[in-house]
Amino acid sequence: MVNSIEKDLLIVGSGLAGLRAAIQAAKIAPHIKIAVISKLQVMRSHSVSAEGGTAAVLYPEDGDTIESHVYDTVKGSDFLGDQDVIEKLVSEMPSEVYQLEHWGMPWSRREDGRIGQRNFGGYSFPRATFAQDKVGFYEMQTLYDTCQKFDNIEFYNEWFVTSVVHDGQRFCGLTAIEMSSGTFYTFKAKALIIATGGAGRVYSFSTYALASTPDGLDMAYRAGMALKDMEFVQFHPTGILPSGILITEGARGEGGYLLNNKGERFMKKYAPSKLELASRDVVSRAMITEINEGRGYKHDTGVDCLKLDLRHLGKELIIQKLPAIREISLKFSGIDPADEPVDVRPVCHYMMGGIHTNIDGATEIQGVWAAGEAACNSVHGANRLGANSTAECLVWGKITGELAAKYIVEGKAPPPFPLHLVTTEEKRIYDGIFRGTGGANPYEVRQELTEIMNNKAYVFRTETDLVEGLKLVRELRQKTWKHVDDKAKEYNTNFTNVMELDSMFRVAEVILMGAIWRKESRGAHARTDYPDRDDKNFLTHTLVYYDTKEPVMKTHPVTITKYKPVERKY
Ligand SMILES: Cc1cc2nc3c(=O)[nH]c(=O)nc-3n(C[C@H](O)[C@H](O)[C@H](O)COP(=O)(O)OP(=O)(O)OC[C@H]3O[C@@H](n4cnc5c(N)ncnc54)[C@H](O)[C@@H]3O)c2cc1C
Repeated sequence: MVNSIEKDLLIVGSGLAGLRAAIQAAKIAPHIKIAVISKLQVMRSHSVSAEGGTAAVLYPEDGDTIESHVYDTVKGSDFLGDQDVIEKLVSEMPSEVYQLEHWGMPWSRREDGRIGQRNFGGYSFPRATFAQDKVGFYEMQTLYDTCQKFDNIEFYNEWFVTSVVHDGQRFCGLTAIEMSSGTFYTFKAKALIIATGGAGRVYSFSTYALASTPDGLDMAYRAGMALKDMEFVQFHPTGILPSGILITEGARGEGGYLLNNKGERFMKKYAPSKLELASRDVVSRAMITEINEGRGYKHDTGVDCLKLDLRHLGKELIIQKLPAIREISLKFSGIDPADEPVDVRPVCHYMMGGIHTNIDGATEIQGVWAAGEAACNSVHGANRLGANSTAECLVWGKITGELAAKYIVEGKAPPPFPLHLVTTEEKRIYDGIFRGTGGANPYEVRQELTEIMNNKAYVFRTETDLVEGLKLVRELRQKTWKHVDDKAKEYNTNFTNVMELDSMFRVAEVILMGAIWRKESRGAHARTDYPDRDDKNFLTHTLVYYDTKEPVMKTHPVTITKYKPVERKY
């Protein structure tokens, strides 16, 4: 008999999206039972490491407008963003900033006492609302504190969710492992919000937390939900060497600039008006072009890089506004950015794609919503603007929390729980993985997989590289890595790591397939063999569905309301 827990609403993921959803659901429906399930402790979710800001139009009196934030985002998305969804993000954001403020968020302040905002890439107004350079940490703390006010939110920390259970149409529950005991459970409930975050650890050079693997995307995918636009992976210009830890765009927002080995601010050539604050895809491509044409530096580790110079900002400003950047540079590369430029190169930072949802975050299964980075409601299209992601988590955390709570309050009893699916899932993870055997070391295989992604599907892509990458990933998958050598029950991270790797293979395949299919360059997807955007053939979203043989690709229309696609220049 499998242990079972009954709730009304399950939220998988305790990052910004999951916590915001929990608060909204608890507010709307104080009598429903809500579980927030997370494979980590709440404050270990990747959201705590968001540094630079959260975008919102706060100061129309100073000239900012909703329309300008909408257009910047549409343009940033290279016209693949759904414009109705973008309008929703932008119009809901100002109240989210004030809502956080009312819950205790310590936003940084201007001299005149108003909430502080800084410049960020791709924006025509400095609208990245910030709290030093630790915006995610403070937002998470504020939301987690607020959750404590509600008796009906229960946290299941360090529970690893393995699958979504439904009857073909409607949601029924989840399967999960309580990591402290190793016990397998089912959760039965009426509604689910998937808020499992991004999956950037499929790349070896990455700004993400080690736990940012695609298990959340994969459980939706295996359950029949489509993954959308996965070929669009954002490479942030400034990953510090050697680790890849992020140096926030806020550093350039405060006036930092990039130099090549001739000492030139090379961005002048690529984005004459926005310079270092062009959108991220544009800056990353410029950096790799400089490196390819011999104007990069060599880091001690042999890796090519460029310099990010902050010295002219002065130590005082750096300490006051960018303290985390200074700490990261000192601790992880031994450099004080007040004295010396730091070595940086483009690094995997965000997945524009995710679980296919509509404008309200609803997936293709009734009773299942997705929010935050795991979801793809198409707000970012082919390239996300910095500071729009924490914003997205807040807005769709709120929307999905509210809709799921209403669905539960108004809804019918859930369908009978299909127990045979639980048996199938137990077989998959215990017979297929836990009791597996084989000689290949799953940690080495993981490293190899992430290096293939880095080498074959990075900033610039070609058919030859992508096809080769897919072949290598599929060959690697055949190796005998599906086994767990640590047989402990309690905190068996070996087991969860191999389950994560299993999900990485499926999602890496989807990224590569989408990238091969999309024979154009748009946003973060830059094909040197198809250097132009091709609206005639590719102004469309991709959807990929799981199939036991080969993934099935489809397309999905882009919603264009006001802004016809034009060439993107910065
Ligand atoms: C270094 C860094 C800096 C950033 N800076 C900014 C910024 O300044 N501004 C901005 O707008 N955006 C920024 N971003 C992006 C933004 O922070 C993220 O997109 C956002 O925080 C994601 O939040 P989330 O709630 O979707 O998921 P996350 O915060 O990633 O949380 C995912 C949750 O899912 C849980 N989970 C995953 N799989 C399972 C499973 N199998 N079982 C149980 N639980 C599971 C995890 O435990 C975790 O709680 C940054 C990202 C990074 C990596």
